[in-house]
Amino acid sequence: MIRDCQNKGMLIMATFDIIRQLEDEGISMGTDIMLYPLGEFTQAIHGLSFAIRAALAFGGIQRGDREGIYNYLSKRPKVVIIQLGPLDQVKVAAEFAVLFNGSPTITDQDVEEIPGKYVVQKDYDQMIQTAIELRDMQIKLEAIDIPVAYGPAFEGETVRRPDTYVEAGGPSKTKVFELVKMREAEEVEDGKITFIGKDADELEEGSGSNLGILIEVYGKKMQEDYESVLERRVHQFINFAEGAWHTGQRNLLWIRLSKKGVESGLRFKHFGDILYAKLHDEFGALLNRIQVTVMTDQAEIDKHFPEAMEAYEARDERVAGLVDEKVETFYTCTLCQSFAPNHVCIISPERLGLCGAINWLDAKASNQITPTGPNQPIEKGNTIDEGKGIWTGVNEAVREHSHGKLDIFSLYTMMETPMTSCGCFECIVGLVPEANGVIIVNREHSGMTPLGMKFSTLAGTVGGGQQTPGFIGVGRYYLVSKKFISADGGLHRIVWMPKQLKEEMMDRLKARAEELGTPDFVDKIADEEVTTDPAELVEYLTKVDHPALKLPPMM
Ligand code: SF4
Ligand code: ZN
Repeated sequence: MIRDCQNKGMLIMATFDIIRQLEDEGISMGTDIMLYPLGEFTQAIHGLSFAIRAALAFGGIQRGDREGIYNYLSKRPKVVIIQLGPLDQVKVAAEFAVLFNGSPTITDQDVEEIPGKYVVQKDYDQMIQTAIELRDMQIKLEAIDIPVAYGPAFEGETVRRPDTYVEAGGPSKTKVFELVKMREAEEVEDGKITFIGKDADELEEGSGSNLGILIEVYGKKMQEDYESVLERRVHQFINFAEGAWHTGQRNLLWIRLSKKGVESGLRFKHFGDILYAKLHDEFGALLNRIQVTVMTDQAEIDKHFPEAMEAYEARDERVAGLVDEKVETFYTCTLCQSFAPNHVCIISPERLGLCGAINWLDAKASNQITPTGPNQPIEKGNTIDEGKGIWTGVNEAVREHSHGKLDIFSLYTMMETPMTSCGCFECIVGLVPEANGVIIVNREHSGMTPLGMKFSTLAGTVGGGQQTPGFIGVGRYYLVSKKFISADGGLHRIVWMPKQLKEEMMDRLKARAEELGTPDFVDKIADEEVTTDPAELVEYLTKVDHPALKLPPMM
């Protein structure tokens, strides 16, 4: 029954007797997998308390407004009590208290039913279905044949280092990519899932593995512009599997399989089954044929890698000629709200989503595919501040999609009402007051920065959908955009960035520096080999005559 709930994306609050059984079965609990242990005999009341808090926090209901709470809880969240085993006075009292607030009970006991409110269901296999129908929940269920549980409940599950059996990409520095590619009909055999290389069970515990995921699709309505949109969903689809964790995108993936997952039989090859099923399910109108190749074999990855890099490059090029002033419409992205419920990315031609995987064209394509999906067009509306990048239409969208938590987004400054971050930023931009400039640190860089914090620590402060002036999460290509913190001085503010990132972006950085009439600028950016100490950094900047020192103060 618990599994059934998890697969259907329900939050479960288990009472004491259930918790004991779960412990005996070795089933893990926690908020990240939506199975939450409650206290002892006052039991259901804690669940009710949670629902009421939701009404107060999200529903705008005032304390003491009993009728308002009843009305809200009659609609959402769709709470239902499953009552198993003998009843006593306390349990019944608690259940009626919950009923009094708009949520029904289903029991396996012989009681007199109150239709729609106190319902008997003795067949345990039917209990969750009864709950779903009783509360009219909308659930789209697709059976995916893998040995672990699968569903939105596991999307937020993190596989921590000690629990990891094998990882690909990330700090393990192995070669990874994920790619969706459109092909001709005869090149794609629908349902063909291939695995090439050694799978998790043949790899040593604690090891790092190469990993490539190639999804080849054919569809009459499919367009090349849609490839990146489908590809971005790989992140979510893999995270839905219990014991699998996915972050990053393109050739900057980081994937983990947990020890428990591998023990239960989860393998890399199952990504093929998952992606095949989910892509068909979500993009059935677009795709007629899907085949997936998952590979850990080095030679096989080397074979496909150039095509992947070419595709990523081509996508970035397509958007390169577009400027914010020339379009009337920006797009939202709320795909990450499952992690950061009030976070919204505003995507403009010159500022891509902070995950680096969705640019303005991608968002546009995504909206064409799913008009009610996470990428909604925003009319810019009236300009409030051209320099800082503030528009009435954007603010309205921010207010709506942050559920009233935020009123203003400035697209071109990090110092005032900057854009928020979920957690999947490719890079963090952070103010170093002493240097009158900013450092950039990318996810792959595990070392120290002149801010006295590593990427991981910084990520904790910057993420979660909060506005944190002085810090923003960005996609790496935003660094070379003309709108990169343009209100704060732009590219010339960059005083430090990891060597590897600098080298990877060298051509683009140089091109942008030349546009600004400072062809030697990139050499003036310090890196970890120069220093990670703020005082030494300033010394270095002075020595190389870094332009940031001559810009107006940032604070
Ligand atoms: Fe969308 Fe932003 Fe999440 Fe990327 S980081 S998927 S653009 S919400
Ligand atoms: Zn995100």
